[in-house]
Amino acid sequence: MEVRFWGVRGSIAVSGAAYARAGGNTSCVEVRAGGERLILDGGTGLRALGDTLVDKEGRTQAIRTTLLFSHVHWDHIQGVPFFGPAFHPGSELLLVGATRDGVDLRGALARQMRAPNFPVDLDALRARVTYRAAATGEPFEVGPFRVTATDLSHPNGVLAWRVEAEGRAVVYATDTEHGGAIDPRLVALARGADLLVHDAQYTDEEYATRRGWGHSTWREAVEVARRAEVARLALFHHDPRRDDDTLAIVEDRARACLPGAFAAREGQAALL
Ligand SMILES: [Zn+2]
Ligand SMILES: [Zn+2]
Repeated sequence: MEVRFWGVRGSIAVSGAAYARAGGNTSCVEVRAGGERLILDGGTGLRALGDTLVDKEGRTQAIRTTLLFSHVHWDHIQGVPFFGPAFHPGSELLLVGATRDGVDLRGALARQMRAPNFPVDLDALRARVTYRAAATGEPFEVGPFRVTATDLSHPNGVLAWRVEAEGRAVVYATDTEHGGAIDPRLVALARGADLLVHDAQYTDEEYATRRGWGHSTWREAVEVARRAEVARLALFHHDPRRDDDTLAIVEDRARACLPGAFAAREGQAALL
């Protein structure tokens, strides 16, 4: 199993020399196994992923893939209208996400592609798109992947995903707030995984002034990995103000607590 990071930034995309090493695109992670691909979240990193799926002449290719959405905050869906393969009539996409505040995944994606906020609507996607409502605690199989979702704490709700294939497991837990006590639901979901991708937006000092914003500290990410006995931890959803230098400091501190911890950076891949 290979896990590749296409967007690791939280809240909003950033650019500039101070962010170049970690990258500025928002949440998008690709998982590959058995010749197939599965994508976690459709932040602006999804556009970059789509742009690599072209033939020798640079034409977009048809693909078959599954997209699992943690939730539909902007930074997790803004890449969808710019995902080239979604406009190819030969593509087949399965999109899985929860209904929140009475709006299902299709409805939420349609809202961001509606005049006057966007010039074309969701029907402009030429791919054959199937939507599936995410059911927590009911694993399902898609291609070589076995997938399980769990609810965690975040404004408007969020799902963490466990993806298993080829005897390996990655757990994707972005946008979650423990709020002082490590969430046992996540520890159970992550138990024994080969890689945990965890929200690490804040330091302890930053979190003190951002309670209730729905995010974790890097220290909580480390603690979840420890309790779930996960050796490799990807710190993820970096705050838009976290430049490369301060991210390196956070990474060093996390690594001192857990040797397998690292800061996820755009373009990086982990082989499990
Ligand atoms: Zn987010
Ligand atoms: Zn969010």
